[in-house]
Amino acid sequence: MENQCPKCNNQNVSKSGIIKGKQRFYCKNCNYNFTVKKLGKQIDDYYVTKALQLYLEGLSYREIERIIGVSHVSISSWIKKYNITRPPHSESHPVYKILKQSELIEYISQENNLENSGLIITQFADKYMLIKWERFKK
Ligand SMILES: [Zn+2]
Repeated sequence: MENQCPKCNNQNVSKSGIIKGKQRFYCKNCNYNFTVKKLGKQIDDYYVTKALQLYLEGLSYREIERIIGVSHVSISSWIKKYNITRPPHSESHPVYKILKQSELIEYISQENNLENSGLIITQFADKYMLIKWERFKK
């Protein structure tokens, strides 16, 4: 996550001291000064939650690694840390798709894509991931 000027969105910023425990930045483009909260930790928590969620849904470490871009070693350590035990999954493996918003709308506008299935939609960067089970189909 790059530091970006909240005013002009330029990334040409430099550090300019610490104010009340927050890093202050100076935008070289528009001369604006701004501080940012410690975003790093927050983002980590977000990916930890997503990784655990995907793991519970039946995806493998490698699949999760490919989707969220975190190494399978980290994923495995989070699963141990939070003591996650995956319930036994039946024969069905979820299908997942990474879609742009317009593709997502198109996909869910077709009722046959929703019928007899379970869906979760979750955001990843500028796209959306859709996880689908067809567990009700027999
Ligand atoms: Zn700026």
